[in-house]
Amino acid sequence: MTRVDLHISDTIPGIYRALRERVDGEVRFDAGTRAAYSTDASNFRQVPIGVVLPRNPDAAAEAIRVTAEFHTPVLSRGGGTSLAGQCTNTAVVIDWSKYCTVVESVDVAARTCVVQPGIVLDALAGPARIGASAAG
Ligand SMILES: Cc1cc2nc3c(=O)[nH]c(=O)nc-3n(C[C@H](O)[C@H](O)[C@H](O)COP(=O)(O)OP(=O)(O)OC[C@H]3O[C@@H](n4cnc5c(N)ncnc54)[C@H](O)[C@@H]3O)c2cc1C
Repeated sequence: MTRVDLHISDTIPGIYRALRERVDGEVRFDAGTRAAYSTDASNFRQVPIGVVLPRNPDAAAEAIRVTAEFHTPVLSRGGGTSLAGQCTNTAVVIDWSKYCTVVESVDVAARTCVVQPGIVLDALAGPARIGASAAG
């Protein structure tokens, strides 16, 4: 175990408590969840410290604030489709895909949109198509 690992394992109960108290969302540090989030679409495997599923972007910002206070690595995860282990690490994983999936706006003329980070492309295709046909 490296000095960094030692520091992280010492602070895990504190991070868990702070996340549970301050973040509007699910905070999961159990073995089953950590195993489930230890892989992406690649062959790599890195077991995370724990997982947070924020109910909205403000809750995710609070989770990031907590990890900063504890000097703990944090990792964003969307669909987990990364092919080289990018969304697996010894970190607190923020999984956007359960709650942060809102299409906030589509501007067909400007060909831009504002979406929350957990969205999948199919969810955007519907509103974008409706906007395109309404715009003629
Ligand atoms: C079958 C298949 C085909 C693919 N084809 C292509 C292709 O044609 N072109 C291509 O470019 N890629 C392709 N990919 C790769 C994959 O789709 C991309 O890596 C994808 O963009 C990952 O998005 P994700 O939301 O699943 O991110 P994840 O896999 O969850 O994460 C990827 C990286 O982005 C970071 N990240 C995730 N969400 C956020 C966020 N909200 N804010 C900041 N950082 C974040 C993660 O920390 C990680 O480093 C393919 C993958 C598969 C499985």
